[in-house]
Amino acid sequence: MSLLKLEKIKKSFTLGPVQVHVLKGVSFEVHAGEMIAIMGTSGSGKSTLMNIIGFLDQPDSGRYLLEGKETARLSDSELSSIRNQKIGFVFQQFNLLGKLTALENVCLPLVYRGIPEKEQKPMAMEILEKVGMGDRAGHRPMELSGGQQQRVAIARALVGTPSILLADEPTGALDTRVGQEIMDLFLELNSTQKITTLIITHDPRIAAQCPGTVRMQDGYVAGTEESP
Ligand code: ADP
Ligand code: MG
Repeated sequence: MSLLKLEKIKKSFTLGPVQVHVLKGVSFEVHAGEMIAIMGTSGSGKSTLMNIIGFLDQPDSGRYLLEGKETARLSDSELSSIRNQKIGFVFQQFNLLGKLTALENVCLPLVYRGIPEKEQKPMAMEILEKVGMGDRAGHRPMELSGGQQQRVAIARALVGTPSILLADEPTGALDTRVGQEIMDLFLELNSTQKITTLIITHDPRIAAQCPGTVRMQDGYVAGTEESP
């Protein structure tokens, strides 16, 4: 059974008098443990698709099955609990809260999940160590480099072991060398923790390192590939 399966997902936006058809029927599936790049030029609908996969937005039509379950029938509260428990998000601009330390940022998802306060810090610390940021736990985002902030953001996405890690252009704000270090971290986490990872990118060098790719073009999936 696939972890997630999309069938003919459609999504348009209305901009004044114009309707923009962004996703015209996107279908693909992802199995547990896979690491897949979702590629496509800027404006091809990658972020729109990620928002749908992460339940931040809903498709106009099509089916989205998560662990074999139809998600269209779920209530808002069920959807937000899936979002909190099963999906970890990583964004291009890191999106850390500036007033909180690295450790406090990583604790946030645990606060939302109602994990007892005593347990939060040890869990967050363990993940911070996994991403190589154990010695920066007390730093605020401003005191960290871009690559370090992204490591903290990855720790925040992973704390509490979600089923799917969704990363939207996670290397887009970083220079090539630091972007590669972040990519190496995703590859390592995927192989050691078996975390299912979707990396959205327009950078062919990043996509080429993912074992599988889904190429978006003109609102459709133009191709899927597995690297040898
Ligand atoms: P990508 O992430 O591949 O660059 P996006 O999914 O962000 O592409 O956007 C795809 C298209 O949809 C663009 O033309 C964008 O302007 C449009 N779009 C995305 N979100 C909205 C929105 N909330 N309202 C109107 N148009 C949108
Ligand atoms: Mg985008």
